[in-house]
Amino acid sequence: MGTSGLTLADLPNIFIMIGALVALFVMLVILLRNMEVIGIVGEGREDAWSRTMPPPRLLMQRVHIPFTFKIQENAPIGYSGVNCCVSSTVRYWHASWWGAPVRELHRTLWGSLADILSSSQLKFTKSGPHDEGPMRLSTVEPLQLGPPPRTCYPLVVILARDLKDIGELRPDDTVALVSVVHIRDEQCPLPSAVIAQYLKQANGHLSCLKQLYVTGECGEETEGYTEGSEHGDVALCCVCAAQPLSRALLPCRHACLCARCLPKLDKCPICRSAITSYFCIRNEEEPLSELKQQQRFPFNRRLFNLFHYH
Ligand SMILES: [Zn+2]
Ligand SMILES: [Zn+2]
Repeated sequence: MGTSGLTLADLPNIFIMIGALVALFVMLVILLRNMEVIGIVGEGREDAWSRTMPPPRLLMQRVHIPFTFKIQENAPIGYSGVNCCVSSTVRYWHASWWGAPVRELHRTLWGSLADILSSSQLKFTKSGPHDEGPMRLSTVEPLQLGPPPRTCYPLVVILARDLKDIGELRPDDTVALVSVVHIRDEQCPLPSAVIAQYLKQANGHLSCLKQLYVTGECGEETEGYTEGSEHGDVALCCVCAAQPLSRALLPCRHACLCARCLPKLDKCPICRSAITSYFCIRNEEEPLSELKQQQRFPFNRRLFNLFHYH
């Protein structure tokens, strides 16, 4: 026994202890550098996940709708009459259905175009193609829809192609546009508006038309996605205000980001809802920078693999 209490036989043990301390130190360094990744500090794992894993892109198909329908908001709207604006690039039949029972409407819409045009509920009027012009819809019978929840829509307007013209159409071409209009009354004081629109396609499919909320700049929001915003003055991304906006976010339907800014965000900059997927509203290739963006955190990506996050 030496005075120091250590012998040569203890040396291996000392090396093991030093090795363990070094390993502990290295582990601490790794943890401190990646605290945000493993959710100890910062906004946590969700934030880092979305930054390294961009939301999936959905493939969308562009469809051509030969009709437009909107109500004239500056004119008085009531059960006595509704002023609307209609345009069509094809000859068409139009009908308005006042107090349409919801179940009966959907039963009718699931039928073929011939079934819709021959429906006993609807009285169609023929019209040729024309630019946007006013149309007045009115009913002679007074409507009593009762208190909400209701089983009837105040007004449904159907614009449908002529049956003779649908022979050479592609299966996904639109053959009818169905607009559901709410009319404000004492018992249901929600503002009068087109509350839903459905597209009937040549192959018989029925789809619900959803609006995009396109923003030019942050805070300045315009409803709807029009051809003008695509070709004329191009709206810019609301984050960088430099690139044209090209990405519509889902599920909130805010079209507000460019290809470069999308991978940097996990929440919509307009409404703060989580981005679960997106689709392109401009025809363009994914820029290289978007791919590079995904390689910015190689160390964190390795950690994800280590922890089996993907
Ligand atoms: Zn941007
Ligand atoms: Zn949003």
